[in-house]
Amino acid sequence: FWEVSYNIAHVMHFIPVSIQTAAAVQHMNEMLDEPTRGSDKPNAPELPRVENNISFDRVTFQYENSRAPVLDNLSLKLDVGKKIAIVGPSGSGKSTLLNLILRLYMPDEGKVTIDGVDIRKVTRESLRSHMAVVFQENMLFNMSIRENIRLGKEGATDEEVVEAAKKAEIHRYIMGLPDKYDTQVGERGDTLSGGQRQRIAIARAIVRNPSVLLLDEATSALDQTTEAALNATLFKLAEGRTMISSTHRLTSVVEMDEIIVISGGQVIERGSHAELLALGGTYRELWDNQGRHTADEDDDDEEDDE
Ligand code: ADP
Ligand code: MG
Repeated sequence: FWEVSYNIAHVMHFIPVSIQTAAAVQHMNEMLDEPTRGSDKPNAPELPRVENNISFDRVTFQYENSRAPVLDNLSLKLDVGKKIAIVGPSGSGKSTLLNLILRLYMPDEGKVTIDGVDIRKVTRESLRSHMAVVFQENMLFNMSIRENIRLGKEGATDEEVVEAAKKAEIHRYIMGLPDKYDTQVGERGDTLSGGQRQRIAIARAIVRNPSVLLLDEATSALDQTTEAALNATLFKLAEGRTMISSTHRLTSVVEMDEIIVISGGQVIERGSHAELLALGGTYRELWDNQGRHTADEDDDDEEDDE
């Protein structure tokens, strides 16, 4: 439960303030207590674009209430335009890495830079304008599908919403509903299957036309067939963008350009799937063990297909 609530709190940073008034939403913002960590320096410039790389330069980071650093003097350069997977055992700091890129948190030591510029020095809004995130649990609000997608970009036109839904490959499904884009999403989005909810979340992300697409276990809660279908969609959407995907489900990382393995607060391996298998290290071990895990998980999965 905690894990889910925590992710939902982060989703709120991508929802326009104008609709963040519901009590539930306020509660989620309180859980994140962010302003002290994330406010802009006076006269901070905007980050114009993301052209070359996103780098972690000797980053050490520890949550206030945790005993040991999650990331410990970690250095990592991520090249723009690639599909990159961040893998590692549960609790190894994959989500934390994404949170630092988004400046949801800031390093205790070292820095995160984009094209050489410390992201602390630019406005948070400009930083996030280049990015979109899809989480494992994405909040759908009790309003129309159109409005739910439009949350990704304030003022998006109907055409932009439809375009995003097409790219997320959910347009045809929506057009088959009696009220089409005006269909009200139930309180908890439960008129939609897990895969459909994720596609709406992907449409919400893609309507921003982000140059950097961050995925945090975006397909991990889905059954394997649905996961494969969504990954195919995400791979198409990654064209011309940078995709950084944190996941513990290795089936979705095989075709990534690069796989980064983190453990013990450090990057311990990086390379392609084939290279890392040949290396015979931690990735190999995770890979060899995952067949069993996946089978276990799928027994409990009640997600359906699309
Ligand atoms: P992963 O995504 O690889 O599973 P996380 O980045 O979520 O790992 O978490 C790394 C470590 O930090 C874990 O030990 C986790 O319990 C802890 N952690 C994550 N988020 C918070 C938080 N908001 N407050 C305190 N500890 C946290
Ligand atoms: Mg995580």
